[in-house]
Amino acid sequence: MEDVATENRPVDWAIYGVPFDGGVTYRPGARFGPRAIRAESQYLKRFSLAHDNGIDVCASLSIADAGDAPVDPYSCEHSVQRQHDFAFGLAGGASPKPAKLLALGGDHSIAYANIRATWERHGKPKGGLALLHFDSHLDTVDAVWGEKWGHASPFRRAIEDGLIDPKQMLSVGIKGPLNTADDLQFARDHGVTILTYADIQRSGLAPVEAFARRLGADPTYLTFDIDVVDPAFAPGTGTPSIGGFTSAEALSLIRACRGVALAGADVVEVLPDRDPAGITALLAAHIVFEILTIDAINTHQATPAV
Ligand code: MN
Ligand code: MN
Repeated sequence: MEDVATENRPVDWAIYGVPFDGGVTYRPGARFGPRAIRAESQYLKRFSLAHDNGIDVCASLSIADAGDAPVDPYSCEHSVQRQHDFAFGLAGGASPKPAKLLALGGDHSIAYANIRATWERHGKPKGGLALLHFDSHLDTVDAVWGEKWGHASPFRRAIEDGLIDPKQMLSVGIKGPLNTADDLQFARDHGVTILTYADIQRSGLAPVEAFARRLGADPTYLTFDIDVVDPAFAPGTGTPSIGGFTSAEALSLIRACRGVALAGADVVEVLPDRDPAGITALLAAHIVFEILTIDAINTHQATPAV
């Protein structure tokens, strides 16, 4: 009953699942990610101790589970369209202040439709949204086996379509191995800032914090591929990349983005069949909580600790 006041407010964040993994080249199964993340999220608590005096995220934000987007398991491109149409119409889509969209993957191909819907719902900002991207991979490959809408290509398409400003794009945790040198070259040629896993090991969080500060009030989308975390901590994923961040480091990376004006987000690539103890889905649920926490701090007064 304590949530009655927030339930009657307009929705700040609409969280929805995208049960789609038709965009993968290796292990399928991320279509079952949304339900696993939801199951593990039952143990999330509402008060974050991560910042200053802490904040009651559920008192500051009205958050709704908007169900799952429709998909087409036989077609990446059709799924993009169906997910986009669903997301664009969610909670206040045509109003001046629509809910922000947070998509639970699904493979990383689902990011494109959520970015497009977010960009459109924010009035199609000229030049595109800023992007904070956490991943072992750049996902800027033009096409894999002729597929241009798979999970290796969402940011290539988003940059081409003007949804993302590559000069305001930061990719963190990149370590590959990559499919080809071409995707690295594309990112560099377009001015994407890349912080590899090794860069962060050397420099700590300072360059992430500096990039976030530089974005200021520019509308920013955050995309988190769980494979940026070492498989020792997040084994349940389709293209695991050995030698990555710990769970604690992953939480710190999100916290380092405090201050950005979040416009939308996704957490992707959770594969429950490879996640026997549920720790990958649990981590994904906590990443969602950290994302909501920085938005709660940015857009509302922090609640003092009791
Ligand atoms: Mn990815
Ligand atoms: Mn990845």
